[in-house]
Amino acid sequence: MSPAHSVLHDVFGYEHFRGPQEAIIEHVSAGGDALVLMPTGGGKSLCYQVPAIVRREAGHGVTLVVSPLIALMHDQVGALLEAGVEAAFLNSTLDWPQTLEVERRLARGELTMLYAAPERVTTERFIALLDGLHERGQLSLIAIDEAHCVSQWGHDFRPEYRQLALLHQRYPEVPRIALTATADELTRADIVAGLELGDARLFISSFDRPNIRYRLEEKKEPLAQLIRFIEREHPGEAGVVYCQSRKRVEEMAAALRDAGVQALPYHAGMPADQRQQHQDRFLREDGIVMVATIAFGMGIDKPDVRFVAHLDMPKNIEGYYQETGRAGRDGLPADAWMVYGLQDVVNQRRMIDDGDAAEEFKAVLRGKLDALLALAEATDCRRVRLLRYFGEEYGRPAAGPPQGGPAPSGGSEPREAGSVGATCGNCDNCLNPPAVWDGTDAARKLLSTIYRVQQANGLSFGAGHLLDIVRGKDTEKVRQFGHERLSTFGIGKEYSDNQLRGVLRQLLALGAIGVHRVLLDSGHSFDTLVLTPGSRPVLRGEQSVPLRQATAQAT
Ligand code: ADP
Ligand code: ZN
Repeated sequence: MSPAHSVLHDVFGYEHFRGPQEAIIEHVSAGGDALVLMPTGGGKSLCYQVPAIVRREAGHGVTLVVSPLIALMHDQVGALLEAGVEAAFLNSTLDWPQTLEVERRLARGELTMLYAAPERVTTERFIALLDGLHERGQLSLIAIDEAHCVSQWGHDFRPEYRQLALLHQRYPEVPRIALTATADELTRADIVAGLELGDARLFISSFDRPNIRYRLEEKKEPLAQLIRFIEREHPGEAGVVYCQSRKRVEEMAAALRDAGVQALPYHAGMPADQRQQHQDRFLREDGIVMVATIAFGMGIDKPDVRFVAHLDMPKNIEGYYQETGRAGRDGLPADAWMVYGLQDVVNQRRMIDDGDAAEEFKAVLRGKLDALLALAEATDCRRVRLLRYFGEEYGRPAAGPPQGGPAPSGGSEPREAGSVGATCGNCDNCLNPPAVWDGTDAARKLLSTIYRVQQANGLSFGAGHLLDIVRGKDTEKVRQFGHERLSTFGIGKEYSDNQLRGVLRQLLALGAIGVHRVLLDSGHSFDTLVLTPGSRPVLRGEQSVPLRQATAQAT
């Protein structure tokens, strides 16, 4: 048995490595650098815990684990101690005598693993400790968990992560392993650059979660849709319902309780003890539905969550994937269910446009939102699209490990190479292929109308009014602006309101229209739709606009 296998067996009590774990562990134990992209629940911790033990036994000293999550540090150190591994952490929860004690044990070479928060690691005091270990050849390995925190494009950005490259500059020959569950191209590039991991070997696992059924529906009456979904498909089962705002969380939790669902609210505005109590009940009791903002979920490991529902659209695919990934950790069938509508798209757009971020940054955020919209509006397999966003062709990690490397992990067997027209058989589009109609003509009519009103009045208008013009409705507002005289008045009579709203969503997804917020003297404001450079290809007929056939009844 290899030393790594012995450790897996004797210390952790497992028989086999999972997926790429073995290759990663061999590589890192031998002193190589690694960047590991693995979905949540894939088994990242062992990828540095086993090498830490193997290398300590070989006389290399202590492994430093940088982790931003205090709760996770505590859990891991507790489990390691129970398994008989000398581990400790340094973070803000320790008082001064406890801190000194950990530092003493570290200096004496008693520890196999030390967990520390990033802001701690870069202090002078801590660097001096590391220097001491390094001089004696007792700094064995540096593990950087949640490595995506180095990327300022993500929602978990931690400025201190930027300084971790300093460790590499100071101790260039000490091997490093960086790990994350966020795998899009941009974040990956940021990790490599920010942590100076250009020479590290890249290990990518499959991000597929085959037991999760992805379903994205048009938002009509969200609460009624949600209640129907829970009553029909998940009565009495545990689930998470994500909402955008605290207020909405409270409202939806109350409404679900009125409908007989055991729902509890969770958001950062609640008193800490109540939040904790709700979390405990969710973890311990059966069949609790947690209605929450995205504040809920990080580090929560409940295996039997049967559904994750989104009543509001997340900001991007990373968020969507992470949140839906909390369903079905036990591998049994689970649903990722979302309703979304035009207003979601407008809201998200505007939050970006009105934010204080630099223009370059906003462009990235818009691109990420567009990718999620494209997923929502897709008429083909959701899973193929989702995985492609993470650089993976369905059933086969695209930028996978080098020749002779590990096989993709996860439950799905590799299918035929390539996934042109691939289907998963476990998403709404695969199970019920949507009828598609060509929205190109309707799109051009809408865009021309936006163009005409801008020309005629020098003003932009909201979706409702634009639809009235296109459908030729005689309203007070239409008369007020003389819009019944526009050449585009009534040119889209043949389309329903719903159809045209679908076209607007798709145009937003394509970046072919933008959102402009108008402030009134009264202090009120409203969102208007405007043309963008992306409008031109559609207006010229160079880009077609395929659309889902709106379903007649809400499901
Ligand atoms: P991640 O950090 O990637 O989200 P963890 O390291 O927390 O995942 O591992 C998820 C779960 O899988 C843990 O309960 C862990 O004990 C278990 N696990 C990891 N590797 C193995 C293995 N080789 N055999 C059995 N269980 C494993
Ligand atoms: Zn599918």
